[in-house]
Amino acid sequence: MAVHTVYKEPAPIMDRENPLESMMSRFNIAAEILGLDEATYDVLKAPDKQVIVNIPVTMDNGKIHVFEGYRVIHNTILGPSKGGIRYDKNVHLDEVKALAAWMTWKCAVVDIPYGGAKGGIICDPTTMSAGEIERMTRGYTLALKDVFGPDRDIPAPDMGTGPREMAWLMDEFSKTNGMTSPAVVTGKPLVMGGSLGRTEATGRGVMVSTLAALKKLGLKPTEVSAAVQGFGNVGSWAAVLLHAEGVKIKGVSDISGAYWNEDGINISDAIAFKDAHNGRLEGFAGATPMNPNELLTSDVDVLVPAAVEDVITEHNAHHIKAKLIVEGANGPTSASADPIINEKGIMVVPDILANSGGVTVSYFEWVQNKQGFKWSLDMVTERADRIMNDAFEKVYETSKKYNVPMRIAAYVVAIDKVAQTYKFRGGF
Ligand code: GLU
Repeated sequence: MAVHTVYKEPAPIMDRENPLESMMSRFNIAAEILGLDEATYDVLKAPDKQVIVNIPVTMDNGKIHVFEGYRVIHNTILGPSKGGIRYDKNVHLDEVKALAAWMTWKCAVVDIPYGGAKGGIICDPTTMSAGEIERMTRGYTLALKDVFGPDRDIPAPDMGTGPREMAWLMDEFSKTNGMTSPAVVTGKPLVMGGSLGRTEATGRGVMVSTLAALKKLGLKPTEVSAAVQGFGNVGSWAAVLLHAEGVKIKGVSDISGAYWNEDGINISDAIAFKDAHNGRLEGFAGATPMNPNELLTSDVDVLVPAAVEDVITEHNAHHIKAKLIVEGANGPTSASADPIINEKGIMVVPDILANSGGVTVSYFEWVQNKQGFKWSLDMVTERADRIMNDAFEKVYETSKKYNVPMRIAAYVVAIDKVAQTYKFRGGF
């Protein structure tokens, strides 16, 4: 086995398949199946609002750096817009637009009363101090104070952000408006209105939908192996929870490289190692380093891409051996890979279904903030699992009804709900 520990940087967006085009090509297929009328198609194909902000930040060296940030509201027909904020050097407006639309479809698939949005700042948080990130987060919040709001647009964590950034955002928004507004953002620390179960929610939804899919395939969790790409919040929780269900996790990867153990990786050991080593798996003795590019085509039953967009492409899809792909990340499969995967008969639980556990528990957090009442972990988990299982069944039935892959079925379910709501609400 080749040994390379250098993780291949995602290609700049211009060299990758444009995520917006990837999203639109699936949207177009679903729109055609539904016979979507032209006006609704035209409304949904473009975001409602796109805001670009300049955020001047005093860096620790005393110089001022101006960061470019975005907030794209794709659609609000189903409710206030909802979606995370991404801090990454590869953030691009087209990517944010696709991610915002995916949020609309995701919320509609799990039937929660939200529209879709996404935000991002072009920055490299790994090279910034906590103080610089705090000033940048506060500047972004201030610049978007008229966009955000508990009944308007509700941000959450995404790549490069977490409870710490959400706390700063909530604080800045609250001070600016002269009132404490916990419901303006989700994914907050527990002590300030965060929800029990939010941290693990996306990974848990990945686990729940994996089990539901395995059942349809007639496979038992204790008899299957898996590889998880990405060991951040989503990937590591998905790995822990799948491992707890008896799935043998043979391969995992993170920014430092990919790691393989034919007998199964002890996931609690891997997490303990990562926590003690700056969030990286490099040097983990419980597995052997492998070429990260080979992880996706390794000999496993279940593949969980839980890192970035466009990692499964027309170039590697032919070599995938897994029977099931469960998309923890947003947009990990480019549209050009879809026909190859379908041809090979691989079942895909698409991103807008598989990773919707995160926004579902975000919704619970928002409801708790509005109620001023905390739910128990059992209540959160039981309700989130039920929503995930119901959504899975609905998408599965739709895929049978129209004889289409699960991905297209998920778009059909989502677009149908949005289109029906437009029919009732009208207004144009
Ligand atoms: N960023 C997450 C996602 O892509 C969570 C969004 C939310 O909780 O609002 O689904």
